Amino acid sequence: MNDKIIHVVKCPTCSQPVPWVQTQRYKPFCSERCKLIDLGEWAMEAKRIPGEPVFPAPDNEDPD
Ligand SMILES: [Zn+2]
Repeated sequence: MNDKIIHVVKCPTCSQPVPWVQTQRYKPFCSERCKLIDLGEWAMEAKRIPGEPVFPAPDNEDPD
């Protein structure tokens, strides 16, 4: 039986294959640098979208 399948993901920043293992500290990124780059781009992207709600309002009113 082969139950030791290692998942490999693509680094969102540089598209390098990243093994999904415990030793990969910055997964899904290949390195801290790529993680910081992606976070930086995300922050810039978020600033360009005004009024985007971070937490969606709960919409579960129970009609009695
Ligand atoms: Zn990378």
